[in-house]
Amino acid sequence: MATIIDGKAISEDIQNEIAIEVQSLAEQGRKIPHLAAILVGNDGASETYVGSKVKTCEKIGFLSTLIKLPAETSENELLFRIKNLNEDDDIDGYIVQLPLPKHINEQKVIEAIDPRKDVDGFHPQNVGRMALNLPAYLPATPYGIIQLLDRYNIVTEGKHCVVIGRSNIVGSPMSLLMARNSNPGNCTVTLTHSKTKNLKEITLQADIIIVALGKPEFLTADMVKDGVVVIDVGITRMPSDKTKSGYKLFGDVKYDEVAAKASFITPVPGGVGPMTIASLLMNTLKASKKEIYG
Ligand code: NAP
Repeated sequence: MATIIDGKAISEDIQNEIAIEVQSLAEQGRKIPHLAAILVGNDGASETYVGSKVKTCEKIGFLSTLIKLPAETSENELLFRIKNLNEDDDIDGYIVQLPLPKHINEQKVIEAIDPRKDVDGFHPQNVGRMALNLPAYLPATPYGIIQLLDRYNIVTEGKHCVVIGRSNIVGSPMSLLMARNSNPGNCTVTLTHSKTKNLKEITLQADIIIVALGKPEFLTADMVKDGVVVIDVGITRMPSDKTKSGYKLFGDVKYDEVAAKASFITPVPGGVGPMTIASLLMNTLKASKKEIYG
C-alpha cells in the first residue's frame, strides 16, 4: 500500500518554520515580510482564496495588505495600482488574483509586475530564469510539489517522470522543474497533453506521474506500473448528496485503485492543494530577504 503524502501536514510544518523565522527577524528589529494582494471584482471563489492567503500571512506574523477593487476597475487604474506597489519599498511581494474581469488584459498585467516582487512567479522573467535554472520565484503549485517530493525524500534522479497537462501554471513549469539538473529533478520527462497519442503506453513506463488536467478520476490503475509515485493536482467540485456541503472534491486520479499499486500518492483534498499557500509564503520570505535578485 502506498505512503500517503500529507500535504496539509507539510504545509503546516513550513508555516511553523516561517513563523519562527519571522519571530527572530522581529526580535532583531529587522524588516517583517509584507505581502500585498490585489483582488478585482467580487468573484466568490477568488475572495475566499485571497481571504485565506491574507489570514495565513497574519497567522505566521507577516504583514499583509489587501487591495480590493470594484469589477469595473479599468486596466489603466489597475496598472497604476501595480506601479504604486512596484515603487513601495515597504511591500516585498504581491499577487494579483486571477482570473481578472474580461476587459483587462491579464498578460499585460502580469508583465507590469516588477519581477523582484512577483511572488506568484508568473512574470516571463521569472519563468525564463526558472527554465535556465537560475534563482527565480517558482509558481506556487509546482513549487509545492517540489517541496513534497523533497520532504518525503522521493528519489527523482534518473527516473522517468510523465506530466499530464501542459498549462502555464502547472504542467509546463512542472516538466521544466523535473528535468532540471537539481534535486528534486534530473528526471527524464515526458510532457503529455490532449493531443498525445497512446497515453496509457507512456504512463505505464512512468516512475513518477504528475496529473494536472482537471478530469475527475482520469488516471486509472491499468495505466500505472507497480511502485509508481503519483502526484494528483486535479481538483474538481462535483455535486454530492453524501456530504453536508452538497459537493465533493475529486482529483484526476482514481485514488483507491491507483493507491493499491503506488509507492507514494497524494490525496485530494489534503495533498497538493494545501501546499500553494506554503509556496507563496516561502516566496514572500525570499522577496523580503532579497534572496532571488539581491
Ligand atoms: P488547464 O489549464 O485546464 O489545462 C489542462 C491540461 O490538460 C491541458 O494542457 C490539456 O491539453 C490537458 N488535457 C486535457 N485533456 C487531456 C487528455 N485527455 N489527455 C492528456 N491531457 C489532457 O488546467 P490547469 O489549470 O493546469 O488545472 C488542472 C487541474 O488542476 C484542475 O482540476 C485545477 O482545478 C487543478 N489545479 C489545482 C491546483 C492545486 O493547488 N491543487 C492548482 C492549480 C490547478 P491541451 O493543452 O492540449 O488543451
